Amino acid sequence: MRIGVLAVQGAFIEHEHMLEKLGVDCVELRQKEDLSGIDGIVLPGGESTVQGKLLHKLDMFEPIRDMISDGLPVLATCAGLILLAQKIDNDDTIHLATLPVTVRRNAYGRQLASFTTDAQIKDIGTYPLVFIRAPYITDVNGDAEILTVVDGNTVGVRYKNQIGLAFHPEMTEDTRVHEYFIDLVKKNK
Ligand code: GLN
Repeated sequence: MRIGVLAVQGAFIEHEHMLEKLGVDCVELRQKEDLSGIDGIVLPGGESTVQGKLLHKLDMFEPIRDMISDGLPVLATCAGLILLAQKIDNDDTIHLATLPVTVRRNAYGRQLASFTTDAQIKDIGTYPLVFIRAPYITDVNGDAEILTVVDGNTVGVRYKNQIGLAFHPEMTEDTRVHEYFIDLVKKNK
């Protein structure tokens, strides 16, 4: 099994460390040739506007969108969730649009830009959620399944092969979210 971690901008190293800890091979995705032979993809946190622009510039946008639409398992965190969302309610940009949710960028404002809280994640249990200038999900469309809610706001969903999280599991010591993703990749193989 080989997991591609998008490495054009943002917090990709932390995902790699997490996957290595689980004994999973990963490859940094920096150009479109790197996409061949991957069994799953991680879209890390960072700056979604910058990441979106780089995907176009590097000719990776369409291949990644098509691979995800065709069923490639994806774990998207924070900016990655914004890249996957069908709609952004406070921004006109639409990126990959494969995940049927609407997100709000920087939804917690400046006061609460970063915080950590424990919450229940479906099929995982209590987990420390780390938020950094995070979005949350304002609308869940279609049959996306809600995985976790904090203060009444949805912050994690799963839709078929796609896991979209507003928080950063890679910035904890807790490997269970990445294990959940790896299970999805195994089932898909
Ligand atoms: N605020 C960032 C954005 O809008 C996301 C923050 C993050 O990934 N930690 O793209």
